[in-house]
Amino acid sequence: MATLTIPKPKDCYMYDYVIVGAGFAGAVSANLLATHHNKKVLVIEKRVHIGGNCYDEVDENGIVVHRYGPHLFHTSSKEVWEYLSRFTEWTPYEHKVLAHIHGKNVPIPFNFNTIEALFEPTHAKQFIQKLSQHYPQNAKIPILELQKNPDEDLQQLSNFIYENLFVHYTAKQWGVSPHEIDSAVTARVPILIGRDDRYFNDTFQAIPKHGYTKLFEALLYHPNITVELNKDFLTEVCWQEKRIGFRNDFTCKIIYTGAVDELFGYCFEALPYRSTDMVFETMDQAYFQEAATINYPNDHDYTRITEFKHIHPNLSPKTTILKEYPKEHCKEITVPYYPIFNDKNQEQYTQYMQKAQHFSNLTLIGRLAEYRYYDMDDIVLRALNTVGIA
Ligand code: UDP
Repeated sequence: MATLTIPKPKDCYMYDYVIVGAGFAGAVSANLLATHHNKKVLVIEKRVHIGGNCYDEVDENGIVVHRYGPHLFHTSSKEVWEYLSRFTEWTPYEHKVLAHIHGKNVPIPFNFNTIEALFEPTHAKQFIQKLSQHYPQNAKIPILELQKNPDEDLQQLSNFIYENLFVHYTAKQWGVSPHEIDSAVTARVPILIGRDDRYFNDTFQAIPKHGYTKLFEALLYHPNITVELNKDFLTEVCWQEKRIGFRNDFTCKIIYTGAVDELFGYCFEALPYRSTDMVFETMDQAYFQEAATINYPNDHDYTRITEFKHIHPNLSPKTTILKEYPKEHCKEITVPYYPIFNDKNQEQYTQYMQKAQHFSNLTLIGRLAEYRYYDMDDIVLRALNTVGIA
């Protein structure tokens, strides 16, 4: 496939759409508008690369790394899978995660195998029997639900899981307890009534064969699409009462995928996000750990270590690992990785959303623009549904 060339900047009025951000929300929207609606699209990206937080590259050891944290593609949407499959081949990949608990690396989501790894056999059998009596096979029970079960054994088990898997990890990740964040967050990693050790159980699970960056190049490679990298939309944005403009042009439609509070100059205060320091290390050994990701709920300041060779196999005698240190987001300084979803923040977001609705040529799509904890496939689906295949 030909490489993406970045044409010289042109005046905005030549475009039907200006799309802010070249992550999944922006790249899929641009592709749909260019290919299915025959629109001329300008994509403005403030980073020096496309792909948003999915950006991957080959590091100095020849190993493919995900610069903004591990991205494992999984979806149960046939529509999303088929759409993306036009732009990449896939390598089948099912993500396995272990958690370091009481000195052992045990599988999560917490399941029957985890119970047997952590408890002596009689006790383990009792817990498994109780779970099987109370819940259907393969059910996924959020920890905050399991804690409501009055059965004495299940109380003991849920307290153990809460204390050893969730409470300290969540404190590191979000700075609060699991009860202070939206219950959907911890429900992403439920207790599984069975032995499925996979981190996700979606129908389609794979990694783009030539990496995410190549997938984005293919999405954006179209004569109707111009990409400008290293350009901050906000330095050239302009406003009228009911329209948003770019480079003094108010005729284009604008799809904005960045942080909505930043777009409006934090007029209703900054929305809270969590950020993460991504610390990469090279180890002078072929492999460092036994799984792609090991979570450390109770030890260290980092939440997890990911070893990329498990995701992108490679014969290098060295290996690259990533430690993630969550921290508070500092506006315009750190990367806003995770919106903090709770009622108060949602209300604050609603104010921004209502303000955005005053601008007839503005659409917000994506994790930051919609202040939602979207996975990659959710964002692709949002773009497919919003822009549409003509
Ligand atoms: N979580 C936890 N312990 C774990 C894994 C997850 O407490 O070992 C909680 C934590 O609150 C986390 C949430 O479950 O933020 C969702 O985890 P997930 O792995 O889906 O987070 P992501 O990969 O999006 O960072």
